[in-house]
Amino acid sequence: EVGEIVGDVTFEGVCFEYEPGVRVLEDVNFEAKQGETIALVGATGSGKSTAIKLISKFYLPTEGEVRIDGIRVEKIETGSLVRQLGIVLQQNFLFTGSVLENIRMGRPQASDAEVYAAAEALNCLDILEQLSDGLHTEVGEAGSNLSLGQRQLVCFCRAMLADPRILILDEATSSVDGITESRIQKALEILLAGRTSFVVAHRLSTIRQADRILVLDQGRVIEEGTHVEL
Ligand code: ATP
Ligand code: MG
Repeated sequence: EVGEIVGDVTFEGVCFEYEPGVRVLEDVNFEAKQGETIALVGATGSGKSTAIKLISKFYLPTEGEVRIDGIRVEKIETGSLVRQLGIVLQQNFLFTGSVLENIRMGRPQASDAEVYAAAEALNCLDILEQLSDGLHTEVGEAGSNLSLGQRQLVCFCRAMLADPRILILDEATSSVDGITESRIQKALEILLAGRTSFVVAHRLSTIRQADRILVLDQGRVIEEGTHVEL
């Protein structure tokens, strides 16, 4: 077993093409240190989702290098990457089953107590316990028994339980319902703490919370800085 991932992520001269000759990322350079939260912002089609897909080895760069702890992602064993990388998608992916089962997917061997502890750590156990059958509530097809906000919290709890060193989050564009923004925001803040995080951010509160913001435009990073600087 190669050592644990610490979570430094660097892009060096990264270019990417889905189709030969059509650049969707052009010479992207940045360094994210362990524990930093990086917000990615930019117009639709600017390359935000593509950039985060390169971190997970879902795609490899056409040119340049993506490195984790100084090692090119191509050289990192997939199993190790899967264990150390958490991804929370925009669609808040839930499976048919209970809330408890959905959270446990973050770490299948976790006990019930550990699942509850993850929810407690994110300050949302009370919300989940208020569901008709508490954490045993069936989420329904694609989570249809839960509000968007509740679904988002379940996905955050799943990621909390998995406890990855690197977290990628494609923030939902639609505003949540059923739960106050501040609850979601607090849970997110706790979830991101201590991990290297990349957030495709839509909410101003998330952007403010980031250590650094990368502004993408047509595949290039056109600005980089803190919320105050930009
Ligand atoms: P949005 O805010 O809409 O999610 P984005 O910043 O995440 O946009 P990307 O999805 O990374 O943008 O897309 C960047 C460019 O790559 C766009 O021109 C898009 O049309 C193109 N693209 C994305 N996915 C594919 C694909 N699978 N095959 C070909 N082109 C793609
Ligand atoms: Mg996208």
